[in-house]
Amino acid sequence: MRRLARGRGAPPRSDLATQLGLALAPPNPIAADAVVINPTGETNVAGVFVAGDAGSGMPSLANAVAAGSNAAAAAVRSLLVEEHATSLNR
Ligand SMILES: Cc1cc2nc3c(=O)[nH]c(=O)nc-3n(C[C@H](O)[C@H](O)[C@H](O)COP(=O)(O)OP(=O)(O)OC[C@H]3O[C@@H](n4cnc5c(N)ncnc54)[C@H](O)[C@@H]3O)c2cc1C
Repeated sequence: MRRLARGRGAPPRSDLATQLGLALAPPNPIAADAVVINPTGETNVAGVFVAGDAGSGMPSLANAVAAGSNAAAAAVRSLLVEEHATSLNR
């Protein structure tokens, strides 16, 4: 199975990020195709969150766990905001 993003400057493992229209950081010695994210894992595409090695942070287990937790919280917040906006339009 190919992975979403590859570390250590290797070629991209999957074109999923590109297919989704996600902005990629320039290749560097740590990651060839890391997805650009904000501190809560949000990408340039609404509703798409990224955590762990696929994102542009330093690859480590601790960072992946923290980023996953942050991204999950941000995704829940995003859904609640969307639901609230929908209920206001009813
Ligand atoms: C050799 C090596 C040694 C390391 N040593 C350390 C260390 O000592 N300490 C440390 O903190 N970090 C270490 N790291 C880094 C650490 O392993 C990673 O930062 C961490 O595992 C990232 O977690 P992740 O969940 O983002 O990605 P991953 O652990 O790579 O998990 C991604 C998972 O998604 C699956 N997947 C990918 N694409 C798809 C798809 N399209 N559909 C379904 N599943 C998919 C993959 O099969 C994989 O199981 C090391 C990394 C390597 C390569």
